[in-house]
Amino acid sequence: MGAPLVIVGTGLAGWTLAREFRKLDPSTPIVLVSRDEGAFYSKPMLSNALAGRRSPASLVTTPAAAAAEAIQATVLAQREVARIDTVARTVVLDDRVVPYRALVLAVGADPIRLPLQGDAGDRVYSVNDLVDYGRFHAALTTGAHVTLLGAGLIGCEFANDLAVAGYQVDVVDLAPLPLGRLVPERAGRAMQVALSAAGVGFHLGASVRAIHRDGARLVVEWVTVGSIRSGSIEAEPADIQRLSTDLVLSAVGLRPRTALAAAAGLTVDRGIVVDSILRTSAPDVYALGDCAEVDGQVMPYVLPLMTGARALAKTLTGTPTDVVYPVMPVAVKTPAFPLSVVPAPQGITGEWSFLESDGGLEGHFKDREERLQGFVLGGTATSRRATLVRAMGQTI
Ligand SMILES: Cc1cc2nc3c(=O)[nH]c(=O)nc-3n(C[C@H](O)[C@H](O)[C@H](O)COP(=O)(O)OP(=O)(O)OC[C@H]3O[C@@H](n4cnc5c(N)ncnc54)[C@H](O)[C@@H]3O)c2cc1C
Repeated sequence: MGAPLVIVGTGLAGWTLAREFRKLDPSTPIVLVSRDEGAFYSKPMLSNALAGRRSPASLVTTPAAAAAEAIQATVLAQREVARIDTVARTVVLDDRVVPYRALVLAVGADPIRLPLQGDAGDRVYSVNDLVDYGRFHAALTTGAHVTLLGAGLIGCEFANDLAVAGYQVDVVDLAPLPLGRLVPERAGRAMQVALSAAGVGFHLGASVRAIHRDGARLVVEWVTVGSIRSGSIEAEPADIQRLSTDLVLSAVGLRPRTALAAAAGLTVDRGIVVDSILRTSAPDVYALGDCAEVDGQVMPYVLPLMTGARALAKTLTGTPTDVVYPVMPVAVKTPAFPLSVVPAPQGITGEWSFLESDGGLEGHFKDREERLQGFVLGGTATSRRATLVRAMGQTI
């Protein structure tokens, strides 16, 4: 039997690809290497789990051994790939060298850490996998006050989840409104109103600069944007705001993991650069999921990686297949005000228009030719998702 297909990473990208590949090729060996336990779980559940009182273990859908057995794969769990040799066509682990016939990097992304002053930087949590969730879950005490850094998708979801689960929550963000990079202002404002009604405090236009210990508690310190002069975060003492809290959870974004690929000489930019068949700059090496930059775009969501996995399985079994992305709305899982959005595409001139109904908000982004190029649905209007996806499908 020849060298296996080697997949580095057992997140949704790694496992989905392995399953899609096995559907098309019943016999080629598959080896998945992961520095975590290798279990299959749905990462999006991490920001919806507290309200349902879910323990970390209960979030595992299939343990690694069972997931591997189902597709006759081998999982090398809790093993870090230290190096890739694209000439010898091997991946180097600390205890062995694994040859590959094709290699897929599905190594995900790292949470961005803000450069913070103060003596409590080590007390800032982020939740990007099951282990992180376990740590955060263990640190939460009944009724604790949590400060979230970041009011983007993941920050809003955690804020809602924590509030429903009975914790006190404040959110601090530099942007003037929640979800600033994803939705138009009107939808961001509606989210702020809904989460505020659920008990979440917002401190927007706020640049966090330090976290200090204060006995068993912490103090989060920020300056308001109005007081930031010429790009510097120096401010008059009066401009500094402080908040006493038990825990800080950072949700300020993710950065694709590119170091392994870069060290192997692969082209990287914001992510591991791949073309429309997910091929990197090295022969027979591909990238998929949060770590990949496809035609200049990083798409850290589930639908793009599933679409990519199906196409890549065909490519790896002898039919080179371009990934063709359908309309892929992003769902913001905030029960206080659920949202579904296809952001306005960059570089297209157009306008947003809105309809508001009882408990619902519907926004359309149309270009100069009146073609629907994006939408946002909030609250009860999310039921119109399929209709608008169809309408957009006719546009593109
Ligand atoms: C809290 C949260 C909520 C989310 N909610 C949504 C949502 O509602 N909808 C949506 O579409 N998306 C959502 N996302 C994004 C979505 O979950 C991700 O896009 C997706 O899970 C990424 O999968 P991945 O396999 O690319 O990366 P990961 O799941 O990060 O997997 C990376 C894998 O690589 C392994 N690895 C890394 N480096 C090495 C190495 N050197 N050696 C060996 N193994 C290595 C890791 O151990 C891991 O197994 C959410 C993300 C988070 C964090």
